[in-house]
Amino acid sequence: MRSQPMVIQAVRLAVRLAFFALIAAGAGLAAGAAAAPVGGDSPPLAANARVGGDETQTRFIVDLSRKIELHVFTLADPYRVVVDIPQVTFRLPPKAGETGRGLIKAFRFGLVMAGGSRIVIDLAKPARVDKAFVVDATDGAPARLVLDLAATDRENFLRKIVLDQRFGHVQTPPPPREQQSLSGDSRPVIVLDPGHGGIDTGTKGPNGQMEKDIVLDLAKRLEGKIEAAGKYRVLLTRSDDTFVPLAERVRFAREAGAALFMSIHADSLPHREGDAQGATVYTLSETATDPAAARLAEQENRADVIAGVDLKDQPEDVAGILIDLAQRETKTFSVEFANKLVGVMKRTTRLHKEPIKSAGFRVLRAPDVPSVLVELGYVSNKEDLQSLLSDSWRDHTAAAIAAAIDGYFSTHLAGARAGAN
Ligand code: ZN
Repeated sequence: MRSQPMVIQAVRLAVRLAFFALIAAGAGLAAGAAAAPVGGDSPPLAANARVGGDETQTRFIVDLSRKIELHVFTLADPYRVVVDIPQVTFRLPPKAGETGRGLIKAFRFGLVMAGGSRIVIDLAKPARVDKAFVVDATDGAPARLVLDLAATDRENFLRKIVLDQRFGHVQTPPPPREQQSLSGDSRPVIVLDPGHGGIDTGTKGPNGQMEKDIVLDLAKRLEGKIEAAGKYRVLLTRSDDTFVPLAERVRFAREAGAALFMSIHADSLPHREGDAQGATVYTLSETATDPAAARLAEQENRADVIAGVDLKDQPEDVAGILIDLAQRETKTFSVEFANKLVGVMKRTTRLHKEPIKSAGFRVLRAPDVPSVLVELGYVSNKEDLQSLLSDSWRDHTAAAIAAAIDGYFSTHLAGARAGAN
């Protein structure tokens, strides 16, 4: 049976070599994000947004503190217009973008990478971008980003996308990369993955409390607790309010040679579906445990659509039979860790009545990194939300998770050592 870990080792090695340059991307991701603009050169401000017109022609305007460059492209299924701009500080009213008018159903905005913001417009039906420009401030009036949309049909909408792609439409450029030394640090690497971020807020509480903020804070507390023990290296897929595509999170864990990947989320249930509470731990499976798990995975997998990332551009990583073998072992470890986690968490944290489930979460797809996704609780449930927003709850939950991680590695590494002899 020791041959299987060998397979994992071989795949890891291959992945490490093949992606050596990209290993630095991991560091870049965090370091780049941390290098927020300082002092005088602060990003321009978006202070207001308006939508005018009807279902044949719609104008979208954003007031800006100064002129900026923009790049516009469209995406289908669902129909979207994506506006990429340099990093902007959005100071729009709290409900801005939740409803639209004319051809615009809704829009959202936020950071997608260090130095880059994005506005994603959901269209009510296919539309073409007639004009997209930014006018300079004139006496009294602020600078304005203006987008003119006109109704079109599906065929023309899709044709435009094909034409754009032929000219190589600009995807989100990779974040700045810095070399990360592959130091002699042999401690296991744990990758924590706070869900959502930037333009993708995740689910929202009744007073606008955002999943992306809750899970980032918990991940940082957890990082602190694990680091304090000194036995593991911890890396975060994001350490600030930046959007990170799902595939990028998986790639990050693989390039870091992670021994464990944990994605952290919070769930919510629509009112009509009653109430649910407590934490749930998910592992990857093509067939979901139940319809609720399937729906949740679908919802979490929508992150890229929400942020306007074109999935077709995500490359498939290494393929082949090695992956299949590694995957089987990875799955066993993932389930083992999920059990451990639930066993420890149940002492301190309220769990869902069925605390272990599986479904097709895209973020759990690394074939060689044991991965779980934790839904900490339901923002739609009053007590859960209270917990999720509480300092002491976050603290003791992070402590419980850290203890579970340590427990998992203690048995796991001991087993590996015994097997190596
Ligand atoms: Zn989520």
